[in-house]
Amino acid sequence: MLQLAGVAVEATSVAGLETNIQLPGFDLAFDLGVCPPSAVSRRNVLFTHAHIDHMGALVSHCATRSLFGMKTPRYLLPAENHEGVLELLEVWRRLDKSALACTLEPVRPGDQVQLAPGLRAEVFRSIHRVPSVGYALHKTRSKLLPAWQGAPGPEIRDARARGEVVSHEVEALEAAFCGDTVIDVLDREPALLRAGLLILECTFVDDKVSVEGARRLGHVHLDEIVERAELFENQALLLTHLSARYDHRYAAAEIYRRLPPSLGARTTVLRNQRIGEGRA
Ligand SMILES: [Zn+2]
Ligand SMILES: [Zn+2]
Repeated sequence: MLQLAGVAVEATSVAGLETNIQLPGFDLAFDLGVCPPSAVSRRNVLFTHAHIDHMGALVSHCATRSLFGMKTPRYLLPAENHEGVLELLEVWRRLDKSALACTLEPVRPGDQVQLAPGLRAEVFRSIHRVPSVGYALHKTRSKLLPAWQGAPGPEIRDARARGEVVSHEVEALEAAFCGDTVIDVLDREPALLRAGLLILECTFVDDKVSVEGARRLGHVHLDEIVERAELFENQALLLTHLSARYDHRYAAAEIYRRLPPSLGARTTVLRNQRIGEGRA
């Protein structure tokens, strides 16, 4: 499991084949193009778009949770996909003769969804070949007031017991996932460049596919990240969704060679190997 900017990440993502990004600390996953056993535990799944490599395992996830007697899953998905997914579930219920209980929550850009106390997902539009959204996760934490920072624990506890206010609530954009998108999402949503952890796709890394070709396919090319390198203020950048046409070592070496060291040092490249082929 990766630890990036204080966020635990368990992920698999290969362009066209499978994407599943889990943030166990937030009890959620983004996309279920595949449903590895660990993803079954994630009750909240935030879907970005209806390509099969991002949504194809929704039904297995739902059925497996039911089999294990786990709580009804909660699926956020682009509003444009709501009707289609309802139909898909109806067909599977007929075929499988099961209830496939789940909560579907259609979302639109600009929506704010409370996922848990102190955890809010903000929905934004990402730009792909089909309707697509991304999610920015805002976490509220209690922070000691400056006067109490560095004070011994028992003193703080006693002050609290006396009813003194020693802390206040601070909200931060801790992580964001853009899904499949062209790079323009960062121009439209500059706050993403200040998320603690930014999870961004980088499908193509060399001239096997040109920047124009990548844009036509609705994806990001490494050249476009390099061009904007100085804009990323994130503590950590996780690049996902590499094309399976690249050998991972070659692709990672290209990325680190091309990024300036200041950004390269904060960047992790997710392996483009499928689950079962051996993972990092
Ligand atoms: Zn994809
Ligand atoms: Zn896609």
